[in-house]
Amino acid sequence: MGEFDLIARYFARGAMAANPDAFGVVLGIGDDCAVLAPTPGHHWLVSADMLVEGRHFLSTVSPRRLGHKALAVNLSDLAACGASPRAFFLSLALPRADEAFLAGFSQGLFELADAHGIVLAGGDTTAGPLNINITVMGETPRGQALLRSGARADDDLWVSGTLGDARLALEVFRGTLSLPGHQFDEVRLRMELPEPRVALGRALRGLATSAIDVSDGLAGDLGHVLARSGVGATLRLADLPRSAVLGAMPQDIQQLCLLSGGDDYELVFTAPAEARERVLAAGRESATPVYRVGRIDAQPGLRVVDGAGRLIEQPLQSFDHFKS
Ligand code: ADP
Ligand code: MG
Repeated sequence: MGEFDLIARYFARGAMAANPDAFGVVLGIGDDCAVLAPTPGHHWLVSADMLVEGRHFLSTVSPRRLGHKALAVNLSDLAACGASPRAFFLSLALPRADEAFLAGFSQGLFELADAHGIVLAGGDTTAGPLNINITVMGETPRGQALLRSGARADDDLWVSGTLGDARLALEVFRGTLSLPGHQFDEVRLRMELPEPRVALGRALRGLATSAIDVSDGLAGDLGHVLARSGVGATLRLADLPRSAVLGAMPQDIQQLCLLSGGDDYELVFTAPAEARERVLAAGRESATPVYRVGRIDAQPGLRVVDGAGRLIEQPLQSFDHFKS
């Protein structure tokens, strides 16, 4: 199978020419460039994420889940900005034209794309070590993108969903701990099939003062918001939302997975205290649970406190459990 057959068969979905204009894509796959038409009065938001085997996914992941995850991590960036997904580009390096891989990968990719109304508008395909590079484009009304830079002292700090399960699954794969089969399946789903919080991000437009998605771990990603906003924060460890599986683990493992887990793809955001009711309504409207987990301070730095409000010293130190 040649490069053009491969694109036609698995990515152009029967139409090498025009895609409907409905999502701002006037012309999609098939020409030298895609032609896009931004909605008047809107800004385009663009983000790219590359996935490399061994670093961003394990060779044990199914092609269908990999297709899902490759797009999901990109949609998560649009979600963090409160953007509505419009178009994406897929650049692929493949060791060989493996039809079973391509069928599964494109199925997982398009299932998620269709769920979010985003159109594959182009890309590039080449032979090489497996590498998946996606660029997504979305829109917000002019000036309404959620940014990392808007957090203000006394804002509430919020988190969506639950944190830490993906890291727990990774540690099981690494062999540093073990879980009963059904619990492993549960956390493995969070690692391999993350659900980008696009609806929540959109519902937070005009409400949240700042937002970021958690891809590298809560403490680190929140640190980006604090740095860009020139503020600090106090985080209440006991209030961080976690699954029943993680909640049953030893305290130090919970702390590590919650604070520096990574691959969560939840949103962390800030909003003024007077917006509390509206934030809860945004969560309900988007069918996404949201939790108040701390406060923004004028004093720079991140402080983590326990259930009694006592400061936890060095909350990010490494843990014996994971030293193999
Ligand atoms: P060019 O040689 O001009 O770069 P290509 O032959 O690489 O064009 O691609 C032909 C068409 O197929 C272009 O519209 C391009 O965007 C699209 N395309 C190539 N690879 C992919 C892919 N993996 N997914 C989606 N579209 C692709
Ligand atoms: Mg090309």
